[in-house]
Amino acid sequence: MRRKLAAGNWKMNGTGAALAEVQALARAHPSPNCDILICPPAPLLHRAAQTVAGTAIAIGAQDCHAEPSGAHTGDTSAEMIMDAGAQHVILGHSERRADHHETSEMVRAKARAAMQAGLSAIVCLGETLAQREAANTLDIIGGQLSESVPDLATGENLVIAYEPVWAIGTGRVPSPEQIGEVHGFLRARLEARFGAGVGRSVRLLYGGSVKGDNAAEIFAVPNVDGALVGGASLTAADFSPIVAALDDSA
Ligand code: PEP
Repeated sequence: MRRKLAAGNWKMNGTGAALAEVQALARAHPSPNCDILICPPAPLLHRAAQTVAGTAIAIGAQDCHAEPSGAHTGDTSAEMIMDAGAQHVILGHSERRADHHETSEMVRAKARAAMQAGLSAIVCLGETLAQREAANTLDIIGGQLSESVPDLATGENLVIAYEPVWAIGTGRVPSPEQIGEVHGFLRARLEARFGAGVGRSVRLLYGGSVKGDNAAEIFAVPNVDGALVGGASLTAADFSPIVAALDDSA
């Protein structure tokens, strides 16, 4: 059985004071039935890892470089993220694909580096509104999946997050049928490429305007193994009901 995962992406939000939210979240969920992950900005990784020591919460980064070290000013390697005490890294988020012109090939190289360093890679995929309206969603998702995921993926080192670009931070959420269609497609593609064992063990997260009041409906969709949450992960008060809904569905 796949263990469910509630992952929070803080994006470029949070200074040291925000770690009080992580402490509050840990107090609210001392022994959850699901995994809980917070991905703060890079400067907070080490302190966040110290903050969650002994709790049920894990820490992840929001990006890594594909090289282990070298002349890449401003970048962070997968080894550095591991060394800071994190276990996961979000890769290929649509904001990085848009703001930093990251291609799926670049995401694949980063995911390979992350996996080789011992991190689990949360690879993000998603169609734009124009692509959905042109009925190209599955073509886009299928292409991103095959190009962004390296061959060394397993159920332990890979998580896929389906995040429709038009749902991120907008309050718009696809219907359960639309989410189920994409997640079922992703599951079939993973099984076809990696075999049933690995294909069935990779967790598939939904992301895009998940809140406490829509989480239970989303978590009831087949092949939804949790959520990647942006805005509603910034405070314990907002994230805790999502974690609780996932816990109930587990
Ligand atoms: C995200 O950025 O990964 C995300 C899902 O954001 P939000 O939950 O704010 O839509």
